[in-house]
Amino acid sequence: MKKLNVKNITRSNIQSLKPYSSARDEFHGDARVFLDANENPFPSSYNRYPDPYQIELKRVISELKGVPVDYIFLGNGSDEAIDLLFRSFCEPGKDSVIIPQPTYGMYTVSANINNVAVKSCALTSDFDIDEIRIKELYDDTTRLIFLCSPNNPSGNLLSTEKVLHIIESFDGLVVIDEAYIDFTDTPGFISYLKEFENLVILQTLSKAWGLAGIRLGMCFANPAVITILNKIKPPYNINSITQTIAIDALSEATKKESWVRAIIAERDLLSQKLNELSVTEFIYPSDANFILAKVKDARSIYEKLVAKGLIVRDRSTVELCEGCLRITVGTSEENKQLIEAMQSL
Ligand SMILES: *Cc1c(COP(=O)(O)O)cnc(C)c1O
Repeated sequence: MKKLNVKNITRSNIQSLKPYSSARDEFHGDARVFLDANENPFPSSYNRYPDPYQIELKRVISELKGVPVDYIFLGNGSDEAIDLLFRSFCEPGKDSVIIPQPTYGMYTVSANINNVAVKSCALTSDFDIDEIRIKELYDDTTRLIFLCSPNNPSGNLLSTEKVLHIIESFDGLVVIDEAYIDFTDTPGFISYLKEFENLVILQTLSKAWGLAGIRLGMCFANPAVITILNKIKPPYNINSITQTIAIDALSEATKKESWVRAIIAERDLLSQKLNELSVTEFIYPSDANFILAKVKDARSIYEKLVAKGLIVRDRSTVELCEGCLRITVGTSEENKQLIEAMQSL
């Protein structure tokens, strides 16, 4: 159990902010004639502004995830939720966040954009949380800790026990990015939301759901945190097309599940094939839809693959990922092409 007085960590200008009130905020209910939002009255599919709080879509997500609607915030990608967390809870030039490395680059970029100090610490050599180091970094300016599980670019889940210790001992928000959770056989941390008021979980439709192009990020947290994010978000941040496509896609979870099974099978095959290559030094185990591969002369392999039209991610200059390429699992045909190209280097 962890209580959090959200007011204590909310920036004072955000606490006192009078939010923009859109036409769709001011009138709720059924009506025949809408002359309140300066829309074009001639009907096309998209002449009306979208629902600013995406209620229909949130009901579908609520059902699917077992999370009440008032625990859900939706962003234009997870990236929007990350930015709004900084803008809500971190005073520029004063507050700080903790980001264990290596991890997803957007946390640091978003911190830098918002002029919020980043306290970095290394993950352990097997890319798990270094609990002692992280706890040494807490101080009374620390507002957010970002934990990515499964972690990008290493692909592993973080230890549940260590994550729970961090949540229990930290008096700011612990943000767990579960962009790749669908590829694991664990349910992640959603079931802990009621117990820990300082827990924020990010998920996305960009990976397993196959919808990176529509930009929909899901943020789950206790309603006091969600209220703040709603207060500062752009009024119509999720467009109508995204809302419609997401409602349809989320109603077809079996399709996502069969993609996930196929990707996991391909991942295991690809790991095995990569392991047999002479250039390979180590293939890290993956709980995600990508593989971190330590190879001989990563930069030159990367460039030779590019020359053949095959693009992987060069992570060889990233702390703890020296000599590594990050390879997304493709279709069986794409993976075959990659392996053949790497065999012929
Ligand atoms: C890909 C990815 C995301 C997805 O971000 P969106 O803005 O929702 O597309 C978030 N977090 C991590 C760690 C990722 O790798």
